[in-house]
Amino acid sequence: MKTGKLIVFSAPSGSGKTTLVHHLLSQQLPLGFSISATSRAPRGKEQNGIDYHFLTPDQFQAKIKADAFLEYEEVYANLFYGTLHAEVDRLWKEGKHILFDIDVKGGLTIKHKYPQNTLAVFVQPPSVAVLENRLRSRATDSEETIQKRLAKAALEMEFAPKFDHILINDDLETAKKEALQIVVDFIES
Ligand code: 5GP
Repeated sequence: MKTGKLIVFSAPSGSGKTTLVHHLLSQQLPLGFSISATSRAPRGKEQNGIDYHFLTPDQFQAKIKADAFLEYEEVYANLFYGTLHAEVDRLWKEGKHILFDIDVKGGLTIKHKYPQNTLAVFVQPPSVAVLENRLRSRATDSEETIQKRLAKAALEMEFAPKFDHILINDDLETAKKEALQIVVDFIES
């Protein structure tokens, strides 16, 4: 199969990564979004097969056993997220480059497995205080979840230097332009 390129956006939750990914997908680029599998429950208006493939914990474990994942992580305690081989194959068959919105460790695993073809971008929030505000204003998570995500964010920030590009999301419009430029340059390289 002809393989396309892989573009990974990783970041602490609340850094604005998903907004940037949606912006890239709204452009006229040959990009397809990798729909991850997760064992967490749908949030807000999320739909199965569009935002995620929502699996039960047992279904997720069965896929691990069947070696169905290119990468997977227990991103939060008892909550698994992973990229299915089938998803990558589907997008490459469609002739698209693949855009991933995945956690820091999963992003680096993809970079490790496809070192030549992967652009790994770390989206960095300007500060932990800004991150906390963003998580609270989203108003879809409980206080406990917010605290878990903040603790994890501090750890994730330490991985930033391992990425090809660190994109600081201070001003969203600037970050959108920068994200688009990096991705276009990479696709055309
Ligand atoms: P959320 O629950 O907010 O949708 O996602 C939580 C975290 O899991 C985010 O950092 C998200 O990027 C990450 N994530 C989503 N899909 C995957 C995946 O397939 N693999 C890995 N390793 N992380 C993922």
